[in-house]
Amino acid sequence: MHEPDNFDRLWTPHRMAYIKGENKPTGSGAEDGCPFCEIPKLSDEDGLVVARGEVVFAVLNLYPYNSGHLMVVPYRHVSGYDELDVAEMTELGDFTQRALRALRKGSGAQGFNVGMNLGHVAGAGIAAHLHQHVVPRWGGDTNFMPVVAQTKVLPQLLHDTREMLAQAWE
Ligand SMILES: [Zn+2]
Repeated sequence: MHEPDNFDRLWTPHRMAYIKGENKPTGSGAEDGCPFCEIPKLSDEDGLVVARGEVVFAVLNLYPYNSGHLMVVPYRHVSGYDELDVAEMTELGDFTQRALRALRKGSGAQGFNVGMNLGHVAGAGIAAHLHQHVVPRWGGDTNFMPVVAQTKVLPQLLHDTREMLAQAWE
């Protein structure tokens, strides 16, 4: 049985938009509508940015695998993990640790899936700009989706989640 927590809804409309292919880049360049290049230009609220570092930032995923799904992303438009410089690798690791702590503190997450898909063939939705996924997990979350899909979805919830995680971020 799923334990209620601060994220107790999912965002089905956004997932539907993703399935329909909206908001996808038109090419592999930074100027081809890359969302990870555009997000940092927005306010934290509009971009769903949780925290900004020197060379990476943390942002909520509009198309979450699970509620509270974060991504840690370098500002630089780069596709390969082996193309990151030392400062980017270091802060990406640091922000991943901070994301785990914020999710544990803010949501009571009991476990995590952490990692990145590099290249379209590996399942990357936006392969041109690498991003580290941090997906919180709870003991009952395999049964979470069918329950939540029946609840009323409010766009405001993404903004509430961002605000809560930004406050939990240390
Ligand atoms: Zn980009």
